[in-house]
Amino acid sequence: MITVIGSINMDIVCQTDVFPKQGETVLGNLFETVPGGKGANQAVAATRLGSKVKMVGAVGQDSFGPALIEILTNENMDVSSVQVAPTSTGIANILLFEQDNRIIVVPGANTYVTPQLVDKNEQAIKTSNLVVMQLEIPVETIEHTLKLCKKHGVPVLLNPAPARNFKPEWMEDITYLTPNETECELIFHEQIETSLQAYPNKLIVTLGDEGAMYHDGEKIVKVAGFRTTAVDTTGAGDTFNGAFAHKICEGAEVKEAVQFANAAASLSVEKFGAQGGMPASEPAEERMR
Ligand code: ATP
Repeated sequence: MITVIGSINMDIVCQTDVFPKQGETVLGNLFETVPGGKGANQAVAATRLGSKVKMVGAVGQDSFGPALIEILTNENMDVSSVQVAPTSTGIANILLFEQDNRIIVVPGANTYVTPQLVDKNEQAIKTSNLVVMQLEIPVETIEHTLKLCKKHGVPVLLNPAPARNFKPEWMEDITYLTPNETECELIFHEQIETSLQAYPNKLIVTLGDEGAMYHDGEKIVKVAGFRTTAVDTTGAGDTFNGAFAHKICEGAEVKEAVQFANAAASLSVEKFGAQGGMPASEPAEERMR
């Protein structure tokens, strides 16, 4: 079983041809609500591939809360540890304007993913094959969970996004860290190759359509991505993480798990929406052949 401790959001998307100036109102031409949050996205990715996943998170007391819980339930995930917090559901308000976008994130209920909520799930964590986290929940929760996982010998995959919340001293208690290139440089303030060398088989850096790389203890290994026609790359990183987690829990080595994660993520960019293109196991395995 994989336990994901992380964010659950509703993305609120408005598309417009004219961006409003200060004090101005304009008409937009598209409005959509799309389920998101890196925690929920990575949990969905792993579940679709066949993993048993428990989601530890929180939604708010507005209409988005029950809607998001229903979506996750329909994915066949265990949502019994998703709390309803006395605040608003986490949202990302996304304004799309030609090639530009402007995003306001309000964490809302995600701030209720506390060390106490983690402690309530200690039994599940203890029996997990892997705990997966990102950085869209409070920093003290990450620190607390890392300690708890260390105590019980449970491996942790941390996807350090948004990276500015990362603390380098956590590396000791992390089993896998999966930044993209920008995040890697922001975290370690070094050339990516130097960082990879410092954390063999632990630091896996994703490279967009180029795939991903890591150090195997002897050399840097670049695992090529799968070229495809990308329609929407939102959630590629989340699919990569969910798929990597799934494969590691099947007992795979890092290289095979990265290959599989590249395959699953390349399928996800072929469809719209973060969760929309996340594949089942068969198409992902098929792409590796
Ligand atoms: P995002 O924030 O867009 O979800 P990210 O910045 O966290 O992604 P990336 O390195 O861009 O992470 O992508 C993660 C993985 O997704 C890559 O390692 C690769 O396997 C896959 N991927 C991303 N973009 C493409 C693409 N255009 N074609 C094929 N695979 C892709």
